[in-house]
Amino acid sequence: MIANLPIARAAFCAFLIIVAVSPAAAQRPAPGVGESHTEQVAPGIFSVNWGEMGLNVGVFTGPDGTLLVDAQDEPAVPRLRQELARISPAPVRFVIDSHWHFDHVGGNASFAATGAVVIAQTNTRTRLMSEQVNPAGGGRQRAFPPAAWPRITFEDALTLHFNGDDVEVTHIPHAHTDGDVAVRFRNANVLFAADLFNSGDYTRIDPRGGSLDGMIAAYRALLPTLDDRTRIVPGRGRVAGKQDLEAYLAVMIALRDRIGKMLADGKTLEQVEAAKPTAEFDARWANGPVRPDQYVEEIYIDLKSHSN
Ligand SMILES: [Zn+2]
Repeated sequence: MIANLPIARAAFCAFLIIVAVSPAAAQRPAPGVGESHTEQVAPGIFSVNWGEMGLNVGVFTGPDGTLLVDAQDEPAVPRLRQELARISPAPVRFVIDSHWHFDHVGGNASFAATGAVVIAQTNTRTRLMSEQVNPAGGGRQRAFPPAAWPRITFEDALTLHFNGDDVEVTHIPHAHTDGDVAVRFRNANVLFAADLFNSGDYTRIDPRGGSLDGMIAAYRALLPTLDDRTRIVPGRGRVAGKQDLEAYLAVMIALRDRIGKMLADGKTLEQVEAAKPTAEFDARWANGPVRPDQYVEEIYIDLKSHSN
């Protein structure tokens, strides 16, 4: 089955700190809550979500069947299936996990049970196979059962030739997590960035393999491959464009500089938070579940871990 897949090598090469109960978790909309918001971003390609900051699932449907980028949080899967049925009767043949956070992989077992093949970067499969404890705060993500584990993994990149397009799946090392992928629909000029970019919300850095420097490097690698017509579907928030990614890269570079300097000056986390280094960016980028002080804390922990 794997040997028959039309896979060729391609060139190139986000987060919830999962806290059991936290203010951020309390603010987060319950899975599947909110109005449906399905947007067609190109022929046969849709972004499906519900709620202003709901998670975006990518749907690519055509004569070969349907391919998903992410599969929602598990409680939201029945609603996702209803939405898919509204878009197309075609069976889901592939699910690409953008990374291993529970709200992106909750439908893996369900769609695998109805014939889909789940694809992920190697680190995503490994993380799903055992409980993941967050060293910052101790939050836990449960181990997923074997039925949810991806069946095809890769290290750097693979391409699916599907529905007449080349779907390029590229590992982005040490960014939001250690298993992130960017999914590029080459002919349609659409990029599913998942939690590498949240439109209007800070993009978190998971200490389990993620890093701000990895995020910055990812943007620097991705941006020259995009043009002004590229449609970018974020992990959360509304569909964006190249200029939005450029704007967020500038935010990350500024925060790395500011928080890095304060860290070098021996400032404590409390002192850094009190300086409000994100203040000028909050109006545009603090519109989702990630609070500015959470984001500052994640960057501080990340930079400190690399400064020793
Ligand atoms: Zn994530």
